Amino acid sequence: MSSLLYTPVEDISKIQEELRAGFRSGKTKNVAFRKEQLLQLAYLIQDNQQRFRDSLHADLGRPPTETDLFEIFVTLNEVRCAYDKVAKWAKQESAPFSFNWFAMSPAIRKEPKGVVLVISPFNYPIFLLLTPLVGAIAAGCAAVLKPSEQAPATAALLTELLPRYLDPTLYRIVNGGVPETTRLLELPWDHIMYTGNGRVARIVAAAAAKHLTPVSTELGGKSPVVIDPKCDLKTAAKRIFWGKVANAGQICLAPDYVLVPRTFQDKFIEALKEVHDSFFPSGPRVSDSFSRIISEQHTQRIKKLIDETQGKIVLGGEVDVAQKYIAPTIVRDVPENDSLMSEELFGPVLPIIPVEDLDDAIRIINNHDHPLALYVFSQDSKFKAKVFDNTQSGSAIANEVVIHAGADGLPVGGVGPSGTGYYSGKYGFDMFTHFRATMDSPGWLDWVLGGRYPPYTADSLNVMRKMLLPSFPARPKNSGNPINA
Ligand code: NAD
Repeated sequence: MSSLLYTPVEDISKIQEELRAGFRSGKTKNVAFRKEQLLQLAYLIQDNQQRFRDSLHADLGRPPTETDLFEIFVTLNEVRCAYDKVAKWAKQESAPFSFNWFAMSPAIRKEPKGVVLVISPFNYPIFLLLTPLVGAIAAGCAAVLKPSEQAPATAALLTELLPRYLDPTLYRIVNGGVPETTRLLELPWDHIMYTGNGRVARIVAAAAAKHLTPVSTELGGKSPVVIDPKCDLKTAAKRIFWGKVANAGQICLAPDYVLVPRTFQDKFIEALKEVHDSFFPSGPRVSDSFSRIISEQHTQRIKKLIDETQGKIVLGGEVDVAQKYIAPTIVRDVPENDSLMSEELFGPVLPIIPVEDLDDAIRIINNHDHPLALYVFSQDSKFKAKVFDNTQSGSAIANEVVIHAGADGLPVGGVGPSGTGYYSGKYGFDMFTHFRATMDSPGWLDWVLGGRYPPYTADSLNVMRKMLLPSFPARPKNSGNPINA
């Protein structure tokens, strides 16, 4: 496995200049060229599946099945969708018909923003680097990709493969840690997409503000699960526990904590334990279906949160920092102000908070930042609606976890502290596209619109008023505002 070489800091602005020249050459304006590059990207992934499985095993001890499901299949689906639809997405779009404006042929040109920067994290280093690239290629942008240095085997593999498959005058990888990324952020970009944690997102947004660079932030947070005791318990336990142990809990959309009625806690925990035993019959430590934590530092961080909990550990709890191993851990009777509630866990630890009723659960959710996802397990549509209608989150999912990120046609994105902007499918194309308004106004129209020119007269204004001033329904009677009293 090749080792990861960092890009010399002094080369970084040159790389950007080369991509700017590549972009200005105009070749990305051609949709057939974009499709060819998308196809090349598909074959980059397809030809090297085993090497990707191996690199992810080296970086995260990840079971190959999870790499297939969460990196290879989903990224290839993103490529396929963009390949099939880019011609339609990129086509100039007429504005909706308007009697006042149609004669000027108002339309929207879909133009690439330019040279964009994509910074991605370690937890899904293929999907989270290449899915934004799919959007950038489809939109006709040039892109610098900055993989996470915390997943060095995968970053090194992508660095080796990208120039063999894609046009290096348009798509390049810059490797490194803080100094290299800081240098990248000093440069003006036409868009930055950052996926990772909120602390670094603030650094990225502040750096981008200096150049008025638009930024999309795809972040995380504590995604809660609300349990209705009348849910399909077996399915709920299986899906929640899977969402927590897949990639050893290092999923932005992983269920972070569970809110369960106090009287239902015992039953719910029993169901989780059964699932644990069925997933890991000889124990998780020796299982080849369970990943490791990305670094000793993150293992130590999670260990500290477990050590300081005031809840009761009812399953797991073992941590081996040197091996970056944390056993799937369930903690019950976790108080609201617990260590396990202080930050996104991003590890295989599931705190369970007993609540008095649904209002109590909603209050706890609303006491935290808006999460990336909110999960409800219930068969009762009123129960689900009450949770979704009284909270805010990136996504609102019933009876499922995590996999909605791969659903065709759905945006992936947070709200407030869980992120700004959307990706996946057309949302990724739109992120890197400038919607350039255009029209072409014939001279004869001044026969109708001539009233805009001086000298202004009451008659000409009257004509314009009839054409341009909208009318409204009667004023609301009981709006409660003083003006209506
Ligand atoms: P990370 O440590 O790999 O960092 C992410 C990127 O930020 C890396 O490329 C890194 O080099 C760069 N970086 C680190 N410090 C920096 C600095 N000081 N200045 C500039 N760049 C810097 O990964 P992470 O941030 O720990 O990722 C995990 C987080 O990402 C979690 O919060 C998770 O929820 C979130 N996430 C969100 C999504 C999503 O789609 N919304 C997907 C995956 C992960």
